[in-house]
Amino acid sequence: MSAAVVLAERGVPVTVLEAAPTIGGRLRAWPEVSPDGLRTNEHGFHAFFRQYYNWRNILRRVDPTLAFLRRIPRYPVLSARWPTEEFGKLPPAAPANLLALLLRSPSLRLRDLRAMNRDAALPLLSYDPIQTYAEFDDTTADALLTSLRLPDRARAMLFEVFSHSFFNHEAEMSAAEMIAQFHFYLLGNPEGLAFDCPTADYAASIWQPLTRHIERHGGRIVTEAAATGLHRDGAGWQVVSTAGAYEARHVVLAVDPPALAALVAASPVLAGAAPDLVARMPAFGRPGPPYAVARYWCAGDVDPGRAVFSGVSRQPTLDSVTLYHRLEEESRRWATRNGGAVVELHAYACEPDVPAEELADRMWRELTPLWPEAERLRVRELRARVEAQAPAFPPGSHAGRPGVRTDAARLYLAGDGIRTDFPSALMERSAATGILAANHILRDEGGATEPIHSIRPRGLLARPH
Ligand SMILES: Cc1cc2nc3c(=O)[nH]c(=O)nc-3n(C[C@H](O)[C@H](O)[C@H](O)COP(=O)(O)OP(=O)(O)OC[C@H]3O[C@@H](n4cnc5c(N)ncnc54)[C@H](O)[C@@H]3O)c2cc1C
Repeated sequence: MSAAVVLAERGVPVTVLEAAPTIGGRLRAWPEVSPDGLRTNEHGFHAFFRQYYNWRNILRRVDPTLAFLRRIPRYPVLSARWPTEEFGKLPPAAPANLLALLLRSPSLRLRDLRAMNRDAALPLLSYDPIQTYAEFDDTTADALLTSLRLPDRARAMLFEVFSHSFFNHEAEMSAAEMIAQFHFYLLGNPEGLAFDCPTADYAASIWQPLTRHIERHGGRIVTEAAATGLHRDGAGWQVVSTAGAYEARHVVLAVDPPALAALVAASPVLAGAAPDLVARMPAFGRPGPPYAVARYWCAGDVDPGRAVFSGVSRQPTLDSVTLYHRLEEESRRWATRNGGAVVELHAYACEPDVPAEELADRMWRELTPLWPEAERLRVRELRARVEAQAPAFPPGSHAGRPGVRTDAARLYLAGDGIRTDFPSALMERSAATGILAANHILRDEGGATEPIHSIRPRGLLARPH
């Protein structure tokens, strides 16, 4: 959608093919029938961080002041074993934020700092897009955290919660990727660990306005159109989909990793046209562990002092809790009418082959020791999902990670698993790679490109080249 926005604005005729009935992917929202009438459900709560410069610029197309986003002031981390920590109160810039994370945090005392391996902490402040991967991509995030010799409480409350948010287990995630994410979200990020959220559902606040914007500029969005294969068509491409075949001079494949691998495998022409892309797919197409989302509509409410969004440390399944009825309008209205609460629970990297309802049940049971009043809530309705579509970042994967350009002329990739040379992740990476793909097309067609923005590309202590 970001690529389509940029291309359509410059007069390029653009068609978006979306397999699902609604666009938005892992950020989508859709109407569904409930006992109380028609309502909107979503794929899950998302934090729109302040350093998502490229994604925010796309969103400014439909709301120039981003008034639809509301600042979420707190970011507590809950634990069954230790007192709550507040991520939201860190100073914005490095190294003050790392020092504050280490010093001010009740999880760490001076004697802990003396025991800590400070040399092992240096790579966190020395992120470099080449050097970091050369030195740390073969190590696991788990081994890096262990080498810091942090006390268990600090590791659990500060570092693990942070790394869990990337949909990968530390033991299966590259240490270089974790350093890159520490840089992007904390140490190289001048905005602080601050984020905003839409006050209306994602369809109303993002996808419907972006669709109208693209259509106003002559673009088309076709839903329930799953691309099933790519063919050569003269100098360009033919994309075959469940809604018909489309001719295109340029193609951007902006699908999740398993879908990309499947589409490439179903396109024999790519064996000759893009052998390098084909070779990268078997490893790239294996997603990270499953994630689970459970939204509960309840009778009764949790304590008024509970934060809108909380991270959770070291529960076997539960990773976060969001109070939708204190965040989003439709849920707020439902809760007011029914004297209830809309509570969403997430697990970012869970055990495979467990049904969604079972994961939802485990998450609810793990919430009650953290918020005892949750025991009193009566569940009126539950929507539970488990899926595995997030990119995996295993040790040693960086060299094989595909970038925006492929080895086939006029075929590009975008998405949160695609490599960028500047710091980015999750929604911001999807938007940034989409804009980069559009820029390649615009350069080829003689159009003006869209500026790309980044936080500082290297860490404070990165060695000069
Ligand atoms: C529970 C949860 C919470 C999250 N929280 C955050 C957060 O707080 N902050 C953050 O930045 N990110 C968060 N993320 C991650 C974020 O959702 C993703 O990084 C982002 O949405 C990825 O966008 P994408 O366009 O790369 O891929 P997707 O969103 O997966 O989109 C891919 C699209 O391709 C479509 N598709 C697949 N195959 C085909 C085909 N053959 N033909 C046509 N279309 C096809 C799919 O239907 C989908 O619409 C969260 C994700 C989840 C699941």
